[in-house]
Amino acid sequence: MALIVQKYGGSSVADAEGILRVAKRVVDTRRAGHDVVVAVSAMGDTTDELLDLAAHVAPVPAPRELDMLLSSGERISMALLAMAINSLGFEARSFTGSQAGMITDAHHGSARIVDVTPVRLREALDEGAVVIVAGFQGFNRDTRDITTLGRGGSDTTAVALAAALNAEVCEIYSDVDGIYTADPRVVPRARKMDRISSEEMLELAANGAKVLYIRAVEFARRHGVLIHARSSFSSNEGTLVINELLSEKLRAEGDPMEEPIVAGVATDLSHAKITIVGVPDVPGKAADIFTIVAKAGANVDMIVQNVSAAATGRADISFTLPMADATLAINALIASQAEVGFESLQHDDGIGKLSVVGAGMRTNAGVSAKLFEALSDAGINIEMISTSEIRISVVMRGDKLPEAARVVHTAYGLDSEIDAAVHGGTGR
Ligand code: ASP
Ligand code: MG
Repeated sequence: MALIVQKYGGSSVADAEGILRVAKRVVDTRRAGHDVVVAVSAMGDTTDELLDLAAHVAPVPAPRELDMLLSSGERISMALLAMAINSLGFEARSFTGSQAGMITDAHHGSARIVDVTPVRLREALDEGAVVIVAGFQGFNRDTRDITTLGRGGSDTTAVALAAALNAEVCEIYSDVDGIYTADPRVVPRARKMDRISSEEMLELAANGAKVLYIRAVEFARRHGVLIHARSSFSSNEGTLVINELLSEKLRAEGDPMEEPIVAGVATDLSHAKITIVGVPDVPGKAADIFTIVAKAGANVDMIVQNVSAAATGRADISFTLPMADATLAINALIASQAEVGFESLQHDDGIGKLSVVGAGMRTNAGVSAKLFEALSDAGINIEMISTSEIRISVVMRGDKLPEAARVVHTAYGLDSEIDAAVHGGTGR
């Protein structure tokens, strides 16, 4: 029958009991007649614990050795899961990333998959075995070294396997039931979506939603992989993430794909704001500033420049960036203060960003007015605004973010009748 790829996150295989529960699910799928390939994450917080351990023996661990260390986490869970499936009377074989043919570039710690050559996986499947693959890891042909794909990389492993093996679906299991219209821990009335377009999912993930990793969604979109995000703790249907090709196909088959004006609301507290005060209002200053920031390795998100005061001929430029990049950017800017000629610099760690995302925004007027009205009714001040074709984001005080998310969620008619069931997990 069909080939199904399943990915289980660390919270699903946190202990022996979890591994047995997952083994039973895999066996159920096998019993239903499907071929099954499983990508598995390291147990629970193993990856964090290994990182802590490394930090204790070396202030800056060698990237090659760090990947050797971190890749061991997934080796533990893959072997245990294979054993558990065997003990249920089914054949299962585990494979490391390199055995599975997960070929990457040489970037330790954030390697990108460049090719998948799943020869051994095909053989094992042909022989009737369930295939278990260590998530999050690969192999570089030039250096002949083990690489890892970056935190949360097992999602990408699963999607890449699904693409290479032409799987019917890539089921991504975590401890949440699917993709919600907002983070249920922030907005209790958040609703589980039955489906979402990969375009909208990418915008939500890029703006703070944590259920799926952005690289995996990108990969799935490019390769036409259907993702089904669901919980390993229940048998409920989760959320389908559908790319353009698939949605065209569904529409052609007569399925009425409704395009919501607003699909969901994302919140993000991980950014900081830097304001450069008194920048001479002459051509070239923005170029100077953002070249300096880019060279420092900081990823800029939103940018706002105010109108310069006629009397001074100077303007203020504010931008947001990941908190972790702020120190680098500030140090680089201060070092070139005289050259750029700005007056002073302010650093603000207390911001929050709220984004509303929906493909239907393209063709509907008044979407932003509704957002601003909801925030104004709640007395919440907007500090910055940015938009894309299918997204509006606003920056505000971080402590206002939960209330803002709730009122905006209500304003767009997204509230469900009942509070969402939160298993208290991390969503991984
Ligand atoms: N174990 C890795 C991490 O914790 C990869 C993953 O969970 O997807 O980031
Ligand atoms: Mg993990």
